[in-house]
Amino acid sequence: MKLRHKMGLVVFLLTAVLAVVLVLISSTLIRSYTLHGATQYAQTVAEMARTALTESMLNGTTPTLPRLKSRLAETQGLVGLNVERSPANIEQFGPSQEGLPHLDAISAEVITTGRPLYRLEQDQVQAVFRATIPYIADSHGEPNCLSCHQVPEGTVLGAVTIRIRISDILERSYWASLTLAAIILLFVPLLLYLINRLYRPIIRAAEGVESAVARAGDGDFTTRVQTSGSDEASRIAASFNRLMDLLENGLIRISGQIARLVQYERPTNGHLLTETIRAVDELVDAAQFKQAIEEDETKTEVYQRLSQVMRTKLGFSRFSIYEVDDAKNKLVPTLIDGEQSAENRWCDAQILARSESCRARRTGHPVNAFEQPGICTMFVGKGIEPGLEHVCLPVLQSGGVGSVVQVVAPLDEKPHIDQQLANLSVHLREASPVLEAKRLMETLRESSMRDAMTGLYNRRFLEEYLDTLLAGVARNKTQLGLLMLDLDYFKQVNDSYGHEAGDRVLIELARVIRQSVRASDLCVRFGGEEFLVILNDTDAQGAMLLAEKVRAKVEEMRVQLPGGAIQKTISIGVADYPADGENFWQVLKYADVALYAAKEAGRNRVERFVPEMWTGNAGEY
Ligand code: GH3
Ligand code: MG
Ligand code: MG
Repeated sequence: MKLRHKMGLVVFLLTAVLAVVLVLISSTLIRSYTLHGATQYAQTVAEMARTALTESMLNGTTPTLPRLKSRLAETQGLVGLNVERSPANIEQFGPSQEGLPHLDAISAEVITTGRPLYRLEQDQVQAVFRATIPYIADSHGEPNCLSCHQVPEGTVLGAVTIRIRISDILERSYWASLTLAAIILLFVPLLLYLINRLYRPIIRAAEGVESAVARAGDGDFTTRVQTSGSDEASRIAASFNRLMDLLENGLIRISGQIARLVQYERPTNGHLLTETIRAVDELVDAAQFKQAIEEDETKTEVYQRLSQVMRTKLGFSRFSIYEVDDAKNKLVPTLIDGEQSAENRWCDAQILARSESCRARRTGHPVNAFEQPGICTMFVGKGIEPGLEHVCLPVLQSGGVGSVVQVVAPLDEKPHIDQQLANLSVHLREASPVLEAKRLMETLRESSMRDAMTGLYNRRFLEEYLDTLLAGVARNKTQLGLLMLDLDYFKQVNDSYGHEAGDRVLIELARVIRQSVRASDLCVRFGGEEFLVILNDTDAQGAMLLAEKVRAKVEEMRVQLPGGAIQKTISIGVADYPADGENFWQVLKYADVALYAAKEAGRNRVERFVPEMWTGNAGEY
């Protein structure tokens, strides 16, 4: 129920109760005063009647009672005046000469008890007040009753019954009460009007606040409460309006700032507060995501975390990440449908060979086929499942596109894609500098592990990688073939053709070595012109065969120099880990020992280590 209706009801009920109470009180009072007046009047009439009776008795004249009765009736509403003699009186004087009626029960009681009785006799026509008052023999009065009546002092001589019509008085009193009630009730509208005027500003303010709060609950913070004057209600309304201003401007500002941050303007028909809360939540998520990926060690971990976010938080099921290999100008699928090392399936294979074929990579702009169907001709998803569309977002790094994130979904999932795209962009923006840093770190690390001139791994790499390598050997119970290689009479090259020519020979040699072994084998530039090749899962016999192959290839190798082509040979020592020894560095030393054995034996040859070659002590290497 509305406040204004409640107040009206309360005022009406209170006034009605007041009217009823006042009517009851006034009618009771009027009735009581009327009866009191009638009693006094009856007593006066009784006294007058007694005086008239006494006089007529003393004078022996005709009783004046009927005259008195008719005179009083004219003016005072007296409708009955009867005098009855008591038995004691009748005994002395006989019954009344006026033929007064016989005693009724009330008169008899009064004559017996000597106490007056008052009654209101009311029928449907009129109300009559009846008073029956005893006459008591009294020797002290004037005249002395006992001078005529031969009865003891205090004997009841008779009783006078007076009937007075009080209908008129009572009726008037009722009318007065009703008039009072009517006047009070007439005040109700006036009262309501006054109260309404007094409370209208408060009620209006309350209703305004109620409606503004209800609209705010639905996301509309533009409603304000009207203010007029300077009373409390206006001040409440003004304070409320200030609060709403603060809230609305604050929310608009927050969502504006968020839009700037995420570079995405949310649709304005949404719920301002819940949209803002959601956007802030997404920002917090993105910040936490950034913190997590910053602490990740490698790019791969970052991609995996991104994949987890895309799957669990953003609800994408088919998404892929392609990394740009700038050096080779190609795209490398890092994750396909969230799976590592899965095969490219959503795009034409061209993008793998030539990164510019990928539209997102080439333009650096998002490619959204949900908005523009068929925008990218490289997308082949429709052939896999009809109705599929894609969005590709470039991840910018150092001014270029570092990777491309692709989401594939049926066209009817467009609303979900639209909703999550901003969130994905925020995550990618957070990931971008982190990926950049990781890529840089990996490049740096890679370069510190390689020999700049030949591109082979350096000794530092061997030291770092050795634990992993040996753990694999132990786990798989395999063996490593170790080849230690050294150019024969290399010094002469430097001496005859110069250091630069020597470098070219070394570069050429490194290429020959790398081409002679498998990709899984490790080629290390161990010293100046000494190389180490570690052959995975290869026993001594296999290692000897490969060493011989390398030796022969080097022998065939011609290095073109300004002064003509030169030809060099190489000597190789071969050892077997762990067949030759439990300690890797010891076995490496054995390979070196075998190398020198090859040198000793005339160079351009391969020697397998045999224990007899070792002249040092055990544990000395
Ligand atoms: P051999 O091994 O057959 O006993 O004779 P060698 O002439 O090759 O002798 P040694 O292995 O001791 O010679 C090493 C030479 O390799 C010495 C050094 O000038 C040269 N050298 C080492 N590193 C480089 C390099 O990076 N570039 C060039 N140009 N020469 C290098
Ligand atoms: Mg040497
Ligand atoms: Mg040498």
